[in-house]
Amino acid sequence: AASPAYRGRFAPSPTGDLHFGSLLAALGSWLLARHANGSWLVRIEDVDPPREVAGASRRQLEALTAFGLVPDEPVVRQSERGALYEAALQRLLATGHAFECHCSRSDLAATGGVHRRCVAARRRPDPAIRLRVPDGTVVAFDDGLQGPQQQDVATEVGDFVLRRAEGYWAYQLAVVVDDAAQGITDVVRGADLLDSTPRQVFLQRVLGLPVPRHAHLPLVVDAAGRKLSKSDAALPVDPATPLPALQAAWRALGQDEAALAQARDVAALLHAARAAFDPARIPRGQHVALAAAHNRG
Ligand code: GLU
Repeated sequence: AASPAYRGRFAPSPTGDLHFGSLLAALGSWLLARHANGSWLVRIEDVDPPREVAGASRRQLEALTAFGLVPDEPVVRQSERGALYEAALQRLLATGHAFECHCSRSDLAATGGVHRRCVAARRRPDPAIRLRVPDGTVVAFDDGLQGPQQQDVATEVGDFVLRRAEGYWAYQLAVVVDDAAQGITDVVRGADLLDSTPRQVFLQRVLGLPVPRHAHLPLVVDAAGRKLSKSDAALPVDPATPLPALQAAWRALGQDEAALAQARDVAALLHAARAAFDPARIPRGQHVALAAAHNRG
């Protein structure tokens, strides 16, 4: 039986097809959950309609199925969970932690987009809602892969948006509300979200929610150290040929390539991967080169 002491998740945004970086996060979070005899959930983070690509969430879920990464519970969609975010927002407004903000992007240009106080040139019919981040809000946490982290959220980020002027929910609020509602104990995701984590930890504290453990996997970069974008033609993984992509992701996670050598189908490969997985071999650091990941030996 799954241990309630570990509940992990993979939370893709439907902004394109599943690419190699997201496969790495999916496989890494799945392996760590299985290693802990825990549950593994999938959540579609579709709170940003302008960035959503039609059909992407269906294709991402189909790809996960082709890769054998099947969640233990029904998939939830953030687009259907607005009432939960609204309830959290109302609590934050009622307690004075959140406030209406009429500032535009150009109003905040002078401070590099960092909001410390409202400097709006004019009122808007549809203000954004921000979370107040008091001076001296320094958030520290210990990342399972990246080690001790610390950020002065007030000076580096400022008061951050919870609901945008267009009415869309901010990722920071939705992810915190959902991780708590779903009882997530372990957040495993790409290192591109390392610097969002202090905002989320602060929000968890303000809302009185448990703070999960965090492990940020290295991002895949090319041999020259450049970040691979989702639009990179080399990246989308082909669900029709899952074995090479799973093997490449396994290598990028620092695991022993030979352990999967005998696997002829996805089920056998994942079975072998579960048995051989060693979390201590996951590369520390925020980047892993795709060339190295593809290198045989
Ligand atoms: N939806 C986010 C993304 O695709 C990931 C959120 C998370 O894992 O916390 O980048």
